[in-house]
Amino acid sequence: MSLDGTYDYDNIFAKILRGEIPNVTVYEDERVLSFMDAFPQSKGHTLVIPKAPSRNLLDTDPDELSNLIQKTQTIAAAVRQALKPDGITITQFNGAPAGQTVFHLHFHIIPRYTGVVPGPHASGQMADIGELSALADKIKTAL
Ligand code: 5GP
Repeated sequence: MSLDGTYDYDNIFAKILRGEIPNVTVYEDERVLSFMDAFPQSKGHTLVIPKAPSRNLLDTDPDELSNLIQKTQTIAAAVRQALKPDGITITQFNGAPAGQTVFHLHFHIIPRYTGVVPGPHASGQMADIGELSALADKIKTAL
């Protein structure tokens, strides 16, 4: 999947938005959904996605992007308050050669802990749902 192409309405995040695949939600409003990454690179790895369909940062509406990054900031602040990480990495990939694996725009919020090396990106190692729910509850409380 290069940068070009049409939006695939069967991508995993589109299915999550339609409620066809479950997710552990952190935050939702009319324009944005935030949920726990099912294959987290660190404890508290959270995703923030727009509800409007777009493949990546380049083909999204600028106003949607502005709203998305502002919500990402708010949720990152809640992750900070809830989980007390030593740092936070915010990432976003455009196109498969850049590392993108799900072709619906999203920001990653990856809490970083001193001395802990984050896991590999999209590793395929699924997290325990109970653990994700407990982390999401803490973040929700901080929001
Ligand atoms: P990308 O590689 O496109 O930047 O990021 C996609 C992210 O989605 C990865 O971090 C991956 O772990 C996560 N992911 C893939 N499938 C699912 C899923 O079914 N549920 C959730 N919550 N996250 C997923």
